[in-house]
Amino acid sequence: MTFSELNLIAPILQALEKEGYKNPTPIQEQAIPIVLARRDLLGCAQTGTGKTAAFAIPILQILHSEHAERTHKNIKVLILTPTRELAIQIGESFAAYGAHLRLKHTVIFGGVPQGAQTQALNRGVDILIATPGRLLDLMNQGYINLKEISIFVLDEADRMLDMGFIHDVKRVIAKLPHQRQTLFFSATMPPEIQKLSETILTKPEKVEVTPAATTAETVSQTVYMVDKKDKKQLLNFVLQDKSITRVLVFTRTKHGADKVVKDLDKAGISAEAIHGNKSQNARQRALNNFKEGKIRALIATDIAARGIDVDLLSHVINYEIPEVPETYVHRIGRTGRAGASGMATSFVDDEEMQDWRNILKLTAQKIPVVEGHPYPRTASGQVQINLPKNKEVVHRPNAVAGFNSGNKRRFTGGGRAR
Ligand code: AMP
Repeated sequence: MTFSELNLIAPILQALEKEGYKNPTPIQEQAIPIVLARRDLLGCAQTGTGKTAAFAIPILQILHSEHAERTHKNIKVLILTPTRELAIQIGESFAAYGAHLRLKHTVIFGGVPQGAQTQALNRGVDILIATPGRLLDLMNQGYINLKEISIFVLDEADRMLDMGFIHDVKRVIAKLPHQRQTLFFSATMPPEIQKLSETILTKPEKVEVTPAATTAETVSQTVYMVDKKDKKQLLNFVLQDKSITRVLVFTRTKHGADKVVKDLDKAGISAEAIHGNKSQNARQRALNNFKEGKIRALIATDIAARGIDVDLLSHVINYEIPEVPETYVHRIGRTGRAGASGMATSFVDDEEMQDWRNILKLTAQKIPVVEGHPYPRTASGQVQINLPKNKEVVHRPNAVAGFNSGNKRRFTGGGRAR
């Protein structure tokens, strides 16, 4: 399937070619015709599947064909997304795919002065990308009128719920015209989100890709069994591999993230943390430094990192193992995006063994244990893990084959060569 087979107009095809997109991803292939047919859509997809383009491309095409004279007077499309990072990324997507169209979009989010945002709104926009808090704030101040909205996109609905934004979202929805097209995206469908989708969608078409329990096939995964006290040294050791140019390291806590940054700093490895205690500006700066290659490692907590879209992110390291197994899937989905290959490795200590077992059960995968590294776990012996469908994986944390035993590739097994 090619993009031109999806009946896209020439200026959009040209922009996609410039972006280097050759074929639509599965969600794009399925969602674009539905949106162009002006149907409501329920999309179960996480970031990394190409879902932004799946709604941005047909929206641009619809607006281009429906609004011959472009006065930019009223906002016609509203995209509601939970975080500033996602809002900016969606804005960049509209800029890229709509480069040859004369449509205007703007992005608004909290944590920064509102002046530049209200000026952009006053100049007129067709497409508004917003986080819920700032949107409500500017609506209350009279800068935004949603009466002419013909397409509404709710992005990452489950995350809105996680972050406590669901009431704000409902307040925004209450102000939208009833007659509209609605596109609803969520990686998971907890009951409250299911209910919300039923109340705001009309006879939706459902599109589902990469169910939450499936890890991206293009990501090769490994695990190091290690004592908690040795994780710091193990990270330094793993990062001696210079082919790891851009790595996202996950910790469970904000404090843990700051500590890893300090430890890496001492070891001469450039790193910054991104988490909820940092100001919006500090988070954005860290993300930009990471994207531009000024720092090698970005240390993140789950809430801060979900949705981070960094092209060429080759590695994810789970410095600490998440308690909720689905979080593992979300974490490693940050690499191997849209068909690129990536690597994910996890550091598991004795206390995290149960969480690791839960991850193996959820993903029903055999994740190879890296053997022969200099910090093998000493706490326990052989651990037998039973997987569903009679699959069994035997982990031998102590079976150290000898460091530097000719095995140059640190990430062994599971391995597709990069
Ligand atoms: P998303 O799931 O929207 O966060 O997109 C994930 C990444 O995939 C982004 O970096 C997009 O630029 C990229 N992408 C989206 N669609 C395609 C495509 N058809 N071909 C190649 N890359 C894509």
